[in-house]
Amino acid sequence: MILKVEPIARALDDLKSEEPEPFVILTDPQGETFTQAKARELALKERIVIICGHYEGVDERVKTHLADQCLSIGDYVLTGGELPALVIADALIRLQSGVLGEEGAPGKDSFAEELLEYPHYTQPRMFREWEAPEILFSGHHARIQRWRRWHQLQKTRRLRPDLWRRFIPTAEDLKLLDMQEDEI
Ligand code: SAM
Repeated sequence: MILKVEPIARALDDLKSEEPEPFVILTDPQGETFTQAKARELALKERIVIICGHYEGVDERVKTHLADQCLSIGDYVLTGGELPALVIADALIRLQSGVLGEEGAPGKDSFAEELLEYPHYTQPRMFREWEAPEILFSGHHARIQRWRRWHQLQKTRRLRPDLWRRFIPTAEDLKLLDMQEDEI
């Protein structure tokens, strides 16, 4: 079964009668992959409508004539577009000012600059025999910053070669990459 173009077009006509005109996204496993960079771009839009397909999908004319953008949340097929729509909405909402406090500032998140985020630890410092790194409890802010950056660089290089290829390291990053963890 395919969702017809007509009811979708009529719903959009209705939604477009209100200002500001919405940017229309179609959830689609064949669409452009949704990334943090795409989330930052879409978070600037004033109003967004997300169309959720179902069954075998939507009439192709929804893609070619009604959607401003087709977005996939990954290379797998879900039953419907509801979960992708929630994923997209959540990623955009948390970028709106005032949604996150200082602690969760999105600028520090993974993918903010093609790097994964550094590891986090909290109390207790020792749990079973698993010790959190001593440096993080040293109060030495410059060393902590270097430790975090070193881990971001190493982790991204090891786990995400695709991101690493796009990342442009600074001179300071290159020096850090030559160091062992105990030299930071
Ligand atoms: N027949 C389609 C195909 O092979 O490309 C798959 C249709 S899927 C079962 C039904 C709907 O779920 C899609 O129209 C889309 O709205 C949504 N959907 C499924 N997987 C998705 C994904 N990875 N990203 C975004 N939307 C997805």
